[in-house]
Amino acid sequence: MLDSVRSFVKNAVFDAFPGVLRHGSPTTKRVALTFDDGPDPMTERCLDLLDELGVPATFFLIGGRIANHSDVVRNYLRRGHQVAGHGFDHKRFSKLGRRDLLAQCARTNDALGGQLNGRPWVRPPHGALDATSLVNLVAAGYTVAMWSLDSYDYSTTDPAQIIERCAGITAGEVVLFHEGQEWTLEALPRIVANIHAAGLECVTMHDLFAS
Ligand SMILES: [Zn+2]
Repeated sequence: MLDSVRSFVKNAVFDAFPGVLRHGSPTTKRVALTFDDGPDPMTERCLDLLDELGVPATFFLIGGRIANHSDVVRNYLRRGHQVAGHGFDHKRFSKLGRRDLLAQCARTNDALGGQLNGRPWVRPPHGALDATSLVNLVAAGYTVAMWSLDSYDYSTTDPAQIIERCAGITAGEVVLFHEGQEWTLEALPRIVANIHAAGLECVTMHDLFAS
């Protein structure tokens, strides 16, 4: 109960804070699938699957995994996806001082080769964001990209449970998944089919919020 009150208050704060994106307009008929923690050895399979399903996604990449691997970053982009930062070493932003935080984000952004429209996007590892790190990021010009629907694919290995979690998806939602997990890939075809059956279209998070 306390947890749900906390997340309600947190979401209310995020929704009211300029520079934080969490839920797109409910009138768009669009949703965004997002994947954290890549790249990893399963990335190619994930991208192949998304190609097959014909949907774009947004990938929040760990800077340390893409530094000096611009070919990997280009592969996501070439296939129509959005890439953005997810910290350099996946440390909690709330544990980093201002200088470390901004250095991590800058290094990751460099490794990404810059991002769409100049203003870089970042998603905090573990979703861990306190008031100080939030203010520091936004003041430094970052857009903080959260999510509205957690698939909880990190707390189960059962694709059916992930499908169930995503069954109530509504227009404008941003769904959180993780790369590198067999069960997430297994769940995706059904999740995308359910989204299409609900009359919704998958777009990148950038496009969801640009509309
Ligand atoms: Zn992560």
